[in-house]
Amino acid sequence: MNAPVKTSKLIKGATGDWEVVIGLEVHAQVSSNAKLFSGAATEFGGEPNAHVSLVDAAMPGMLPVINEECVRQAIRTGLGLNAQINLRSVFDRKNYFYPDLPQGYQISQYKSPVVGEGQVKVDLPDGESIVVGIERLHLEQDAGKSLHDQHPTASYVDLNRSGVALMEIVSKPDLRSSEQAKAYVSKLRTILRYLGTCDGDMEKGSLRADVNVSVRKPGDALGTRCEIKNVNSVRFIGQAIEYEARRQIGILEDGGTVDQETRLFDAVKGETRSMRSKEEAHDYRYFPDPDLLPLEFSQDYVDALKAELPELPDAKMARFIAEFGLSADDAGVLVAERESAEFYEAVLAVLGNRERDGKLAANWVINELFGRLNKESLAIAASPVSAAQLAAIIDLIGEGTISGKIAKDLFEIIWVEGGDPREVVEARGMKQVTDLSAIEKVVDDIIAANPDKAAQVAAKPAMIGWFVGQVMKSSGGKANPQAVNDLLKSKLGL
Ligand code: ADP
Ligand code: MG
Repeated sequence: MNAPVKTSKLIKGATGDWEVVIGLEVHAQVSSNAKLFSGAATEFGGEPNAHVSLVDAAMPGMLPVINEECVRQAIRTGLGLNAQINLRSVFDRKNYFYPDLPQGYQISQYKSPVVGEGQVKVDLPDGESIVVGIERLHLEQDAGKSLHDQHPTASYVDLNRSGVALMEIVSKPDLRSSEQAKAYVSKLRTILRYLGTCDGDMEKGSLRADVNVSVRKPGDALGTRCEIKNVNSVRFIGQAIEYEARRQIGILEDGGTVDQETRLFDAVKGETRSMRSKEEAHDYRYFPDPDLLPLEFSQDYVDALKAELPELPDAKMARFIAEFGLSADDAGVLVAERESAEFYEAVLAVLGNRERDGKLAANWVINELFGRLNKESLAIAASPVSAAQLAAIIDLIGEGTISGKIAKDLFEIIWVEGGDPREVVEARGMKQVTDLSAIEKVVDDIIAANPDKAAQVAAKPAMIGWFVGQVMKSSGGKANPQAVNDLLKSKLGL
């Protein structure tokens, strides 16, 4: 089923509007301790060739043995992408020569992948949502790495990555702008991180995308595409698409034709350039790997994995909106990272999961906590203010013990010094004054000291704001603003 794409961001050319069509092949490194067909570690970094078994080095006579954990992770990912799980799939050899591929072939899946068609819902920055079709997800081995900068005349090969399990997640050509493509990759990354099937670390290469781009006049058949290999940041994916779409439009408007080819993105220049003409599937001489049996598992196994999936971002977002009255924007910000959503949930759990606290807690997590964490470049796991402490601050505001303004001071104290917010409020006399007689005394003093202003206020009611400010100031911000307002109104005859 090809999901309908609602938005179309057209690009203006000299001959009219053009539509960009994008499909992504995302390579996601499977989170597992060992490689896909060997027991060697998948650890990042380390000395070159420190994590290489005889299987990964393709020594003669070595046989691959499937790592069940990688299969489990691929199935869980497929379930998270609302996709068809194939109970029987086949590993194929994709044959090609390259110095970083000692086997002379990559073990991949071709005609029968472990996961078939699925769908991902993507929320766009403008508030619109699209559904992006997933064509398939298959398991394959990563290759090693050629090092060309270690020796003046020789290249070296590091096989640490050789044999690491990758999931290749292929989208349908459903994306229509760089914005959509960026939002899709971000959403995919979020889902993988919720599932714990890929750490999503693009800097380390755990997630990278081959970006297929073509252009056409709206309503025309699909144009010829170019594939930009191995783009490793969301921002670069956007830049590569923008550049490539304009390059193709330029060629077509000059009366030329786009050659189907594989290109590279140069992040420094912000350009794509030709790498090689497009290879065809038959160039690889795919055939089922005779060393591996077809991959088979039962529906019960799949069902059990499904039952244990964590709550995923779409479901969490819908629940935050329904249960805690959040706006879609706030809910979207909170669910973008699993740790943020869980922190928010922990705050609400301490408060007894009342809808009443939902919005206030969201404000505090998003604005005060995230703001402060960003300022110090801290991850939420390293927050000096715990969920229980933040809950206590929110509770103090909710029950009227402190004002929102004092709460910010309190947050800062807890951030720097730690402690129990209730005790701090008690010990430092930060309680909001709701005692009317105490406030009345201050109100009377201010009115008495400013008779000229008090005389003008009947004609200019907006001046009451000045009086409120004075009372708040002389109470050290602790007077209850509502009580101050009410008292001033009655005393000034408004
Ligand atoms: P291959 O494996 O040869 O790269 P596929 O048919 O598997 O080819 O497609 C790879 C990717 O290219 C998919 O993500 C698909 O959505 C995308 N794609 C296919 N046709 C087009 C097109 N005309 N324009 C943009 N993307 C396309
Ligand atoms: Mg491809």
